Amino acid sequence: LEFLPDLSLRNYNTLRLDVRAQWFCRITNEPDLGEAIEFARTRNLPITVLGEGSNVVLLNHLAGLVVQNGIKGVSFDGGRVLAAAGENWHGLVQQAVQRKLGGIENLALIPGTVGAAPIQNIGAYGVELSDIFSSLKAIHSLTGETAEFSASDCQFAYRDSLFKHERHWIVSSIALQLLPDSKTTSHYPTLASYLQDRAITATVESVFHAVSEIRRTRLPDPAVEPNVGSFFKNPLVDAAVAKELRRSFPEMPVFEVVEGCKLSAAWLIDQAGLKGFNIGDICVSEKHALVIINQGDGSPEELVGVIREVQSLVAERYHVDLEVEPQIYE
Ligand SMILES: Cc1cc2nc3c(=O)[nH]c(=O)nc-3n(C[C@H](O)[C@H](O)[C@H](O)COP(=O)(O)OP(=O)(O)OC[C@H]3O[C@@H](n4cnc5c(N)ncnc54)[C@H](O)[C@@H]3O)c2cc1C
Repeated sequence: LEFLPDLSLRNYNTLRLDVRAQWFCRITNEPDLGEAIEFARTRNLPITVLGEGSNVVLLNHLAGLVVQNGIKGVSFDGGRVLAAAGENWHGLVQQAVQRKLGGIENLALIPGTVGAAPIQNIGAYGVELSDIFSSLKAIHSLTGETAEFSASDCQFAYRDSLFKHERHWIVSSIALQLLPDSKTTSHYPTLASYLQDRAITATVESVFHAVSEIRRTRLPDPAVEPNVGSFFKNPLVDAAVAKELRRSFPEMPVFEVVEGCKLSAAWLIDQAGLKGFNIGDICVSEKHALVIINQGDGSPEELVGVIREVQSLVAERYHVDLEVEPQIYE
């Protein structure tokens, strides 16, 4: 295994921020992971794991060892799938759809690796990973201990899990229990109207194609316009707060959920007039208010400036706090 000193991470994060790793290695199997942990342990270095870097905001150089997870392998046993952490997520979705296995077709085209999917409990178009999740295997980066986590151990919530708070666990594989074709989910409004307008019956395959098509037209491609997807979480507020906001802003979208009322972060940013707002090369997308784009040589300082401006204008106008969704490394 090759350990590279002082490497630029520009090609390893989809926002293409040019920060450096003190040490870097790419692992492709579990023994490599053991070797990387040992390398870090003997030098007393912290470990940061990266998948495809599509949900990280690297604001500073990373001290210690950055491990890029490329551990591969997928096996199906009926509806049960076991996938190694370094597999590409969309590739796994495609394999499931080819077998007419459902449950993850709504999560098509989410960038990144399988191992990162449980970290923020990825979700889209009415489905979250936790809906079909069985278990995962992880290794503790300090002790080398291996452990299995059930769905309840993972403490999944909206874009959240135990692993966002206990960062020493490195996921090596995940197991999912997929569903028969008849169980596809198509109630999410944009998806439902896409299918209805075209008189398409909802199947695993048709939902997969619909979601892929909708995403291609709505979201900026990180390969063309470097970004990390939705930059802010949709704020959750009490029903009373939502009612008050609706009184002042009758057109504000409000979604009732079990925990309270969810507001649309994109709507708040758009209505605050922030689409296209920029500092240097970092800007709020003109196309999608929730996406922040690096137009070239954007710096971490410019990005922090844009985040602060968005948060403070939204707070001033709506008294709502916007929380950053991707993992920030300061
Ligand atoms: C255009 C675009 C659209 C997106 N759309 C969605 C969407 O619809 N829904 C959604 O939920 N997300 C979305 N995302 C966010 C992102 O795709 C997901 O969060 C994805 O799971 C990140 O995978 P990654 O491999 O790139 O993770 P990285 O960015 O490399 O890592 C993310 C975090 O997970 C940790 N991590 C990564 N791998 C492991 C591992 N094996 N073990 C332990 N920790 C690990 C990292 O340390 C980091 O903290 C989108 C991003 C983009 C750019």
